[in-house]
Amino acid sequence: MKQKFDIGIIGAGLSGLTLANSLLSKKINNFILFEKAFKNDKTYSFWSGPGLFDIKKKLNIRIKKEWSQIEVKVKGKSYIIDLGHYRYACYESKLVLQELYKRVVTKGIKVERGSLIKHIKKINDNWEINLDRKKILLKNVADSRPNNKFEDKYPSLKQVFIGSEIISNEKIFNENTATLMDFFESKKNVIFTYVLPFSKTRALVETTFFSHEINFKEVDALHKKTLKNFNIKEILRTEKAVLPMSPYFEERADNQYFKIGNFGGASRPASGYAFTRIALWANQIDIKNQFTYKLINHKKNYLTNWLDKIFLSVLRSNPKEAPKIFQIFFTKVPIASVIRFLSDQARLIDYLAIVLKLPKIIMLRGLLNLYVK
Ligand SMILES: Cc1cc2nc3c(=O)[nH]c(=O)nc-3n(C[C@H](O)[C@H](O)[C@H](O)COP(=O)(O)OP(=O)(O)OC[C@H]3O[C@@H](n4cnc5c(N)ncnc54)[C@H](O)[C@@H]3O)c2cc1C
Repeated sequence: MKQKFDIGIIGAGLSGLTLANSLLSKKINNFILFEKAFKNDKTYSFWSGPGLFDIKKKLNIRIKKEWSQIEVKVKGKSYIIDLGHYRYACYESKLVLQELYKRVVTKGIKVERGSLIKHIKKINDNWEINLDRKKILLKNVADSRPNNKFEDKYPSLKQVFIGSEIISNEKIFNENTATLMDFFESKKNVIFTYVLPFSKTRALVETTFFSHEINFKEVDALHKKTLKNFNIKEILRTEKAVLPMSPYFEERADNQYFKIGNFGGASRPASGYAFTRIALWANQIDIKNQFTYKLINHKKNYLTNWLDKIFLSVLRSNPKEAPKIFQIFFTKVPIASVIRFLSDQARLIDYLAIVLKLPKIIMLRGLLNLYVK
C-alpha cells in the first residue's frame, strides 16, 4: 500500500509539533507525523516581555511558573537582577506537547505512533519511508531526530546536565527569584547549579556542565553532592540530557529535506536553549496558500552567531573566566538587551551594549583563539 503526503515530520516533539501547528494555522493539512515514543517529562523555560515574540499567546500554552527576578552567584556572592517588565517563565513539556498534539489530531492529521524511523530513501521526486507493509511517499521531509554525533569542531561545547524536581523539608526557596547560574570554580569546565523555585519548598535543581566531553558520572557525583544542601523530603522526578552548543549547522535544505530542532540549528550555541528559536522559525515559514509554501531550515543571524562563537571560544579555552563574564553580562549590560539577545531578537543597540560592557582582553583572546585553534 502506498500513501502520499506533501510533508512528513519525523518526531512529534517540540519542533515537529510546533511546525505542525504552524502549518495548520495556515490551512495546510496534507502532512503526516512519525513519532517513536512520546516522552514528556521535562520543563522548558524562556523569556517573555515587551517587544518579544509572544510565544505563550501564539502557541496558547499555560505557564507553570514565572519569575520577576533572576540570580547569578559567583564565589558565593549573590547578584539579584530585577527583570522589570520582563519575565523568565517555565512550562511543563507534558502540557505544551499535549496541547500542540491535541490540535493536530483534532484536525485529523495522521500520526504514526510507535514508528522508529531509520531509513529514508529518495525515489525520483519523493522521499520514501517504509513502515511495516506500507510505503509512505513524501515531497518534503522535516526531520527532528537527534544526531548520534555531537559537533566537536572548536569552539563547540556540549551542555551536560542532570536536574531533579525536589521537595524540601524546609521553606528554603525564594519563589520570586530563579537562580540561573550558581557557579562552581573549575579550570576544566563551566559548572553551575540552576534552581527554579516553584514554591518555598519545591524546586527544580539542575547541575550543568558546559563541557568538551560528556561525562555523566562527574555530573551525577556533583549533582548528588549539591542536592544534600536542600534537606530533601522527596525527589519527584529527574531529567538528564546533553544538548549541542555549536555555532555550526547546515542551513541549506538538501532536496526538500530539512533538518529541524535541536540538531538542525534550533539550539542556541551559547546557551543550549531552543524553545524561542523553534517558535520564531515556525512562525517565519513563508506560506502564501495551501499550495504555495516553502519550508525553511533554522536560519543563522550572523551577528548573534559570531558573538556566540566568541562566547563559546572563551568558555572552551578559558572556563575559569566564565563566572566573571556571565556576572558582567547579567549585571552590567541592561537587562532588556540581555534578554533580547538571549531570545534571538537583539537590536543593534543590544549588540553594542554587550560588546562595550564585556571584558575586552578576555573576549579578544576568545576571538583570536577562533583563528589559531
Ligand atoms: C531536559 C531538557 C530540558 C530543556 N530545557 C530547555 C529550556 O528550559 N529552554 C529551552 O529553550 N530549551 C530547553 N531544552 C532544549 C530544547 O528546547 C528541547 O530539547 C526541545 O525539546 C527540542 O525540540 P526538538 O524537536 O529538537 O526535540 P524533541 O522535543 O526531543 O523532539 C524530537 C522527537 O523525535 C522523536 N524521535 C527521535 N528519534 C526518532 C526516530 N528515529 N523516529 C521517530 N521519532 C523519533 C523523539 O521521540 C522526540 O519526540 C531542554 C532540553 C532538554 C532535553
